[in-house]
Amino acid sequence: MSSIADNIGSVTRRIQKATLDAGRAPDSVGLLAVSKTRSPADLRQAITAGQRAFGENYLQEALDKIEALREIPDIEWHFIGPIQSNKTRQIANSFAWVHSVDRLKIARRLSEQRDRSLPPLNICLQVNVDRETSKSGCDLDELPALTKAIAELPGLSLRGLMAIPDPAQSADELRLSFRKLATALNDLKTRYPDAGPLDSLSMGMSGDLELAIAEGATWVRIGTALFGSRPAKS
Ligand SMILES: *Cc1c(COP(=O)(O)O)cnc(C)c1O
Repeated sequence: MSSIADNIGSVTRRIQKATLDAGRAPDSVGLLAVSKTRSPADLRQAITAGQRAFGENYLQEALDKIEALREIPDIEWHFIGPIQSNKTRQIANSFAWVHSVDRLKIARRLSEQRDRSLPPLNICLQVNVDRETSKSGCDLDELPALTKAIAELPGLSLRGLMAIPDPAQSADELRLSFRKLATALNDLKTRYPDAGPLDSLSMGMSGDLELAIAEGATWVRIGTALFGSRPAKS
């Protein structure tokens, strides 16, 4: 079995090759290590191998790990899971990024509750790009109104868009989903140039990071390719 450090090396090489093949700047794609269900010891191995950005889906589990790894400087925590409105205060103040904002009510609460001594919270709007009824995320046609409203929120920095395309799709279909998200970000940048940096696309996972990078991903979210397969959730 390969170690977490080996896996970080091989995923980093895949990212570098895909970035080069796409003619993009070498440092334009970040590796977000998706560490849900992994122990602090697993995260320490990744940290020793140089990893600093971690994505978590479940708030309590994330808070426990943030506490366990508190003494390590420069770790950047990203929240990527569904957000309940009664959990926004802790999410607003424990993370540097939230990728899974999909409605204005949540954005308003995160902005209001973000401690003013912290820099604005980086957020991505999660888009249900394949219109799967079971998935969270807003529809593409809700993006203009959301962007306009979020631009007014002082506690947030609107960085871009996130999607989890239907993994059952073919490579061509996946590519189209990634392209839709990239096009939507470009449209927002043109229409609302002052709404925020709008410089980020959080898309691509273990199996499809090359396609996502070819279409402009700036964060790829990788779990199993780094840490191995997760035990089935009971
Ligand atoms: C779990 C998860 C990932 C990582 O998936 P893997 O298949 O483990 O690489 C990426 N994004 C989100 C939103 C996730 O919940």
